[in-house]
Amino acid sequence: MEGDPRRVILFPLPFQGHMSPMIQLANILHSRGFAISVIHHEYNSPDPCKYPHLSFHLIPGGLSQYQADKSDPLRLFQLLNIDCIGPIRDCLGKLLSTHDDVACIITDANMSSSQAIAEDIGIPRIVLRTSSACSFLTFATLPLLREKGFYSHDLDSRREDPVPELPPLKVKDIQAMQFRSLDITLMVLSNIIEGAKTASGLIFNTFHDLEEPNLANLGEHFRLPTFLIGPFHKFFSAASSSLLAQDRNSVSWLDTQETGCVLYVSFGSGATMNEKSAMEVAWGLANSEQPFLWVVRPGLVQGSEWLEWLPDEFEEVISQRGCIVKWAPQQEVLSHPAVGGFWTHSGWNSTLESICEGVPMICSSFSGDQHVNSRYVNDAWRLGIKLECGFEREEIESVIRMIMLDRDQGQEIRERALCWKEKIDVSFKTDGFSSQPLNALSDLISSIKS
Ligand code: UDP
Repeated sequence: MEGDPRRVILFPLPFQGHMSPMIQLANILHSRGFAISVIHHEYNSPDPCKYPHLSFHLIPGGLSQYQADKSDPLRLFQLLNIDCIGPIRDCLGKLLSTHDDVACIITDANMSSSQAIAEDIGIPRIVLRTSSACSFLTFATLPLLREKGFYSHDLDSRREDPVPELPPLKVKDIQAMQFRSLDITLMVLSNIIEGAKTASGLIFNTFHDLEEPNLANLGEHFRLPTFLIGPFHKFFSAASSSLLAQDRNSVSWLDTQETGCVLYVSFGSGATMNEKSAMEVAWGLANSEQPFLWVVRPGLVQGSEWLEWLPDEFEEVISQRGCIVKWAPQQEVLSHPAVGGFWTHSGWNSTLESICEGVPMICSSFSGDQHVNSRYVNDAWRLGIKLECGFEREEIESVIRMIMLDRDQGQEIRERALCWKEKIDVSFKTDGFSSQPLNALSDLISSIKS
């Protein structure tokens, strides 16, 4: 880059699946010669000591530990969008008065209120969508689907039918995306979509070849420069931005297991489940007779501290073939030779990390974009199997056997997963990965007038 570096100000949301990709993007842009400032909350704050090359700016207020009730993500995003407007505006004002090199801000797509701030202050905003392009396309299409009656009770008997406007989604996937109330769900999603439409650019953390088929359809909704760059964690590991301590005993335990035989089970940083479902997970795992590494995050099982709800008999299962930890070094776990399958909640970072390591998936979606990601994994990319009955021990047992052992359909999925891993590795080695869209993004930022 010629002359003094331009500065980019990034504002990550304080949740694991949003924080990691934004910090990774900060590092990618820094490696491209940009100066980086990161505005952040106190809650789930990134650790500035890990990134001495980036400058960090704490904003007051926002979300408290008490308010961060993960069982209601829509409320969380609403709260953040309302409470953070003032502090972000003040912080941006200070940064602009002390730096004359600022090119733009990059904010999370879910932080839709930052679009109005950017317009007021007169600085371009680029949006980072931390989930898949296919889920963003789905969000953008939901109002049309509502008009067409996809949320009417008449369709309840046709839940398995395809949605012609959004293949490969089914009616039940669209209906599952309703959270709290349909009006609130669509209002929050519509704010996110409309906020992105008027931005100066749209970035997705995704593998270009995987999601390229969605680009044309995305272009019908978003008439702005769109960049499919990633997966970011191939440039910068997600480990450094982990908000919880990663238990390395999980890796020592994997070292004692045979190649490809362990099922890794994790439902990410925010999902919660009731005790009955957790019990079905436990007995599905036990009955499959497959070794497993299970991340039970404190708070995963509603109303419990950690493992109090597990019956005593399960201790024998664990001693024979299981390991339970509170949080694992996931990227390292997925790349471990002992791991042969990943039962995931279909969060986008987890999905990408699994695809990059060639690990086939079992998908249990809990909310929002996860319903779309899991349907794509099952039907479009055919890299895993979606559990269609929720948490039910017989289905769990048979799907685990299918993914880990089956020599027919399971074998095909395992081979396809390895093919994608090779494709991604080759792409990363030959062109440093999506270097074309990354160059285009760097050019766009550099071309912005001071
Ligand atoms: N993760 C981790 N250890 C765990 C479970 C998850 O480091 O035990 C990381 C995982 O590698 C991923 C992130 O947490 O980068 C989860 O993001 P995702 O988008 O999959 O789900 P979310 O937590 O946002 O629901």
